[in-house]
Amino acid sequence: MAENNRYDVIIIGTGAGGGTIAYHLAPSGKRILLLERGGYLPREKDNWDAKAVFVESKYRAKETWYDKDGKAFYPGIQYYVGGNTKVYGAALLRFRERDFGEVAHHGGISPAWPLSYQDFEPYYTKAEDLYHVHGQHGIDPTEGPSSAPYRYPPVSHAPRIQELFDDFERLGHHPFPLPLGILLEEADGKALHTSACVRCAAFDGFPCLVNGKADSQVICVDPALEHSNVELLTGAYVERLETNASGRVVTKVIVTRQGALEEYSADIVVVSCGAVNSAALLLRSANDKHPGGLANSSDVVGRHYMRHNCSAFMAISKDPNPTVFQKTLALNDFYFRSGDWEYPLGEIQMLGKSDGEMLKGEAPGWAVWKTEFALDYLAEHSIDFWLQSEDLPHPDNRVTINPDGQLVLNIQETNLEGHKRLTAKLEGMLGDIGLHDHLMHRSLYLGKDIPIGGTAHQAGTVRFGRDPKTSALDVNCKAHDLDNLYVVDASFFVSIAAVNPSLTIMANALRVGDHLLERLGV
Ligand SMILES: Cc1cc2nc3c(=O)[nH]c(=O)nc-3n(C[C@H](O)[C@H](O)[C@H](O)COP(=O)(O)OP(=O)(O)OC[C@H]3O[C@@H](n4cnc5c(N)ncnc54)[C@H](O)[C@@H]3O)c2cc1C
Ligand code: SF4
Repeated sequence: MAENNRYDVIIIGTGAGGGTIAYHLAPSGKRILLLERGGYLPREKDNWDAKAVFVESKYRAKETWYDKDGKAFYPGIQYYVGGNTKVYGAALLRFRERDFGEVAHHGGISPAWPLSYQDFEPYYTKAEDLYHVHGQHGIDPTEGPSSAPYRYPPVSHAPRIQELFDDFERLGHHPFPLPLGILLEEADGKALHTSACVRCAAFDGFPCLVNGKADSQVICVDPALEHSNVELLTGAYVERLETNASGRVVTKVIVTRQGALEEYSADIVVVSCGAVNSAALLLRSANDKHPGGLANSSDVVGRHYMRHNCSAFMAISKDPNPTVFQKTLALNDFYFRSGDWEYPLGEIQMLGKSDGEMLKGEAPGWAVWKTEFALDYLAEHSIDFWLQSEDLPHPDNRVTINPDGQLVLNIQETNLEGHKRLTAKLEGMLGDIGLHDHLMHRSLYLGKDIPIGGTAHQAGTVRFGRDPKTSALDVNCKAHDLDNLYVVDASFFVSIAAVNPSLTIMANALRVGDHLLERLGV
């Protein structure tokens, strides 16, 4: 191996986990290499074109995975510098304090994490500052304590969403401003001339043409690369990791780039390929010391895949909804229980606004509305919701590699009753909040037409813990079985709670980053 292929730290993947840890380590002066299979997401008009993004899936990876019966499917995943944060909705919420403990659900137990909310709290605050999270603490009763206010004020509600907010309050609920990672400066609901974000309709699921979204490329990777000790190789697909004879140290990172194999090495190797691809990489890296896959003496690698039970819904407002930027409200009143049920239901959030093109793409399934309203009417009156409930870790929900080297995802749904009840709660309120009383699935956003392909919120496949028999990583996210291998994407999750995962991934990357700085003697 060429001497200049040796680094202090190699980070594989540049999404929420990899990008954030790269940013944190960059000022150390240590020689750091980022390996990213994708390139930069092209900046072009199609970034904001609903047809290109949602109907033609222009930015989705052209990749095929298989279910347990060998049936091919097309995962909802993006491979770019910045990972899936290039298209995420940037709803950046903390896990609730109780989410770190054991929580009884209707469908089983959500297990406790080896660390508490208090261990994460300082890093949540740092991650919120770093990712420009606009929000307001102290309104949502389920929220844990915070050591500092948000640095940025909540994104203002458009008038129709403010009405919705007031209607929820009138019903005795506690809506709160959805915390959003966004480079927005606004006054009177309009972006200022200095603002990167222009408050357009293309926030959720679209890439941002003007770099107004606080994604991992804009916030972390680009600034990290300003340090001369940090390098990025794009189009660099990591095939496998090789170890020394004892199996304790990763000695080579084998990469395919421009059709050729290359080798790199580092004192510390940080894997952050996303929960499915990180597990796949470790499984592909099996050797005689790690016959079941790297770092897998516990046999948990690939298992306990979680993804949230979630639904995207459209309701129809009795008054027109001219809102452009809709994703500003959330409601957690059913997060842990409801008046008539003792188990958790989940979270209600607003979603980006449906537009005519999206509706055309989804319309065949919408017979109920089509008989009553024209699509243009629907687009003008739609109000869109995202409902999210906890999926439980099941050992048989897992990522494996088949004998042909293909990625196989085996899932069975868990804990669905809470989600059904959450949907019924929202449906039951529609008439009282100025909406017609049907909810329609918005399938394009999530790929719900192929439920297994809804891989946006993937987590749990390389779980952390104190016991090497039941976890692959220790509490610093270092592999129990190896001395220099870390995993910092959503794979380390023990449970997925019912809030969006990325802020916890970012906070954890900062936490593990502190540990690595100490280990590197910086
Ligand atoms: C449409 C959509 C909306 C979302 N909205 C939200 C939201 O509002 N809030 C929220 O919290 N989360 C949201 N998410 C989820 C969020 O994007 C993910 O939780 C987050 O990006 C995961 O971070 P990660 O670091 O685990 O993985 P990723 O961001 O997926 O990063 C993994 C990186 O590794 C690279 N990679 C993979 N395999 C290899 C390999 N073998 N070699 C080299 N590189 C590799 C990938 O190209 C990628 O860049 C959304 C996701 C989608 C798709
Ligand atoms: S709302 Fe702002 S951040 Fe989102 S796509 Fe539009 S300009 Fe970009």
